[in-house]
Amino acid sequence: MNLLIMGPPGAGKGTQAEKLIKQLDITHISTGDMFRNAIKEGTEMGKKAKEFIDQGNLVPDEVVVGMVKDRLSQSDCEKGFLLDGFPRTLDQAKALDQTLASLGIKLDGVVNISVPREKLMERLTGRRICRDCGASFHVIFNKPKEEGKCDSCGGELYQRSDDNEESVGKRLDVYTQETQPLIDYYKEKGLLADINGDQEITSVLNDILAALKK
Ligand SMILES: [Zn+2]
Repeated sequence: MNLLIMGPPGAGKGTQAEKLIKQLDITHISTGDMFRNAIKEGTEMGKKAKEFIDQGNLVPDEVVVGMVKDRLSQSDCEKGFLLDGFPRTLDQAKALDQTLASLGIKLDGVVNISVPREKLMERLTGRRICRDCGASFHVIFNKPKEEGKCDSCGGELYQRSDDNEESVGKRLDVYTQETQPLIDYYKEKGLLADINGDQEITSVLNDILAALKK
């Protein structure tokens, strides 16, 4: 099965991606990892990407798409894949369609995890991080045993500056603006599986699996 997974920050996309690839025995392609590897291995596309990054520029779509194409051509993708973190824009989605067509690959579904905005705010602004070991806690969902103190090392917990309401709100707005056209695009193609992410982790997973069987 060849899948794509989407979801705003805080929706639990990473958690579901990990569970899905195990359950379906497919390869996880996270664009972040893919970038790091392509640059580390010095592939042609990796070198191009590095030039842009070193100059402080965004990596242009054709390079990102080139990297995705290289990655999808590798043998571990033959059993199926879950693309995560790409595409982010409608242009990229169209470029991906062309790439998949050129490789003779068909996309089977697009998993879109939705969570109400106020719940995302609650999840994202409640995050606390240990200054000493980097462990992550949450004031509601993953409370430390002692307030403000790390369970594992006793270090001081702090809120990352970009986890405040204003920054989180902005991040969510940008995400919605960018991805709404994508969601509409895949819905029109009949590929979209809209999943309620405001549930227990296993219920979300079960909903995804049920939607993919349809
Ligand atoms: Zn700690």
